[in-house]
Amino acid sequence: MNPFIKKVQEALAARGYAPGPIDGRDGPKTRKAVKAFQKDSGLEPDGQVGRLTENRLFTDQLSIISFDGDGSTPHFARDEFACDCGGAYCDGFPAAMNLELLLKLEALRNALDVPVRITSGVRCPTRNDEVGGVQNSQHLFGQAADCYAHGIPIATVAAIGESLGLTAILYEAEGFVHLAV
Ligand SMILES: [Zn+2]
Repeated sequence: MNPFIKKVQEALAARGYAPGPIDGRDGPKTRKAVKAFQKDSGLEPDGQVGRLTENRLFTDQLSIISFDGDGSTPHFARDEFACDCGGAYCDGFPAAMNLELLLKLEALRNALDVPVRITSGVRCPTRNDEVGGVQNSQHLFGQAADCYAHGIPIATVAAIGESLGLTAILYEAEGFVHLAV
């Protein structure tokens, strides 16, 4: 009996998967449940509980994430989402960032366990035009963030974002993913 496998089985069962008896043994039912959980979580379904799977199983609950007074989350400062016109056309926050998006980005960051860099958060209309953003871009309303994570394929970042309920658009050549609520 392996205590880690037992913890994994308990976490899978708590999430509605069927790992078989909670006996700390890595049997076929546990493997199958791990694979199902990985598939639903945007992870490679290999049945192995590696770091990303462990993070998803144990640390990505949205309910444990809190905001600081200014709207920062544990891993993202509010300023990281400011309009990058640098004060030329707006005061940085022509719209407030969507709170659900911020919570899910924090969950994504916890799942990846590496820094997630925001390349674009909210944008004022002038800046949006400048960078070639689409009309009515969700960036205008604080409902989208472009990002990448060092050392993690952006397809993985996108898949995990989608498993958290975000919409993802891959920009392979530019090396970032657009995530939106
Ligand atoms: Zn601006």
